[in-house]
Amino acid sequence: MAKVLVVGSGFGGLSAAARLAKLRHHVTVLERAVEPGGLLLGTSVGDERWAAGPESVTLPGVFRDLFRKSGRPMDALIAISPAGPRHHVLPARWPRGTAVIDLPFGTRGAQHDAVAQALGRDPWSPWVDQLADPWNELRRTVLESAHPHDSPVPDLMGSDRSLQRVARGLRDPRLRRLAADLPGVTAAAPGVLAVWHYVERNFGRWRFDGGSAGLAAALLTRLRERKVTIETGVDVARAVDAGVELADGSVREADVVVWAAGSDPAAPGGSTRTRTFLRLGGATLPDDLVVHGRAVVRGWRSGEDGWVLEAPTGADPLELLARHGRDVRSAVTWQHTVAAPPTSDALPRPARSPGPGRWLVGAAAVPGASLEVTGMGTAALAAHLGAAPR
Ligand SMILES: Cc1cc2nc3c(=O)[nH]c(=O)nc-3n(C[C@H](O)[C@H](O)[C@H](O)COP(=O)(O)OP(=O)(O)OC[C@H]3O[C@@H](n4cnc5c(N)ncnc54)[C@H](O)[C@@H]3O)c2cc1C
Repeated sequence: MAKVLVVGSGFGGLSAAARLAKLRHHVTVLERAVEPGGLLLGTSVGDERWAAGPESVTLPGVFRDLFRKSGRPMDALIAISPAGPRHHVLPARWPRGTAVIDLPFGTRGAQHDAVAQALGRDPWSPWVDQLADPWNELRRTVLESAHPHDSPVPDLMGSDRSLQRVARGLRDPRLRRLAADLPGVTAAAPGVLAVWHYVERNFGRWRFDGGSAGLAAALLTRLRERKVTIETGVDVARAVDAGVELADGSVREADVVVWAAGSDPAAPGGSTRTRTFLRLGGATLPDDLVVHGRAVVRGWRSGEDGWVLEAPTGADPLELLARHGRDVRSAVTWQHTVAAPPTSDALPRPARSPGPGRWLVGAAAVPGASLEVTGMGTAALAAHLGAAPR
């Protein structure tokens, strides 16, 4: 049995802990906050929690596999149902003009109808079709493998091809924007990340009952069943050869350290985007919204009357929305802006080892910080470490 210390109790930490405990390792989770759950519980603004992203996930099989492989099927703990479409505003200069598409997930036919209705024809569906092989390649060689620190990054769809370049396979400038604007990554990120459009179309987007806080509660139940210890209020300073060093200078020993603290201690910080938290009275915005263009605005609902808008630093997201026919400025009853998590232009390696006995998982290892790829990473890590002998 290996003694495993998991640092951080967001989705990365909780999913790693559940899987490794089921493999009979002795797992302890160390969490700095007073409550476990990380961003699954939302982002704190004052005393309130706001949704950390659109409250939906794709690849439901990743979550089903996590619950099944850590004990019992997911349905015994939490239900999921299909999420609604994403509202895209796609501006283009003359001669084409702005298009609006409510793009549904989960079926090719429904996407085809939505695009054909908005644009009069559908070059989108065949473009997405040809991402099937790259998706399988990315899944097999990157997402479903653990990556020791010296393992090479595979060359997928030509490593010099950026997302922006792959999007050029579409002639309509509006669809090019739709293809190149992915959450949490820049258009300079590797083109293979375009497979996300194939994934969302084919596997759908889903909402957990009770949102991501419901998912946190289900995972915490699973961890109790697996007798994992969660210590809250523990600030970990860094990983060291013997385990981890806490902020008070003491050392906790471990055979394996899984760093799931939301950020990579070795990565540079900084953000070029902001998040604006809004309350609206007497007006609404779509639950999941992207206004494309030179300055992309991404938005999602948080609770009854709250929305979060992410935009480039210096841009006014409300003004950008107004410019595209969504003027809610007079309905704003409260707003607050903070720096957003940084975007990335690297290839995801969702379970990566910076050195012997240490693993980095979670948002810090995943461009786009998606829960699904985070879950694939912790699955790959558990498979790599294997079961403790009886
Ligand atoms: C539905 C949904 C959609 C999301 N979509 C996006 C998105 O599009 N883009 C995006 O950027 N994010 C998104 N997020 C937010 C986030 O990126 C994901 O939740 C991600 O999987 C975070 O998991 P994590 O475990 O890596 O990090 P976190 O949830 O941040 O958890 C890290 C934990 O580590 C703890 N911790 C940090 N430092 C220390 C330390 N030194 N010692 C001890 N503990 C420490 C923190 O307190 C925290 O509890 C989304 C979240 C949800 C729920």
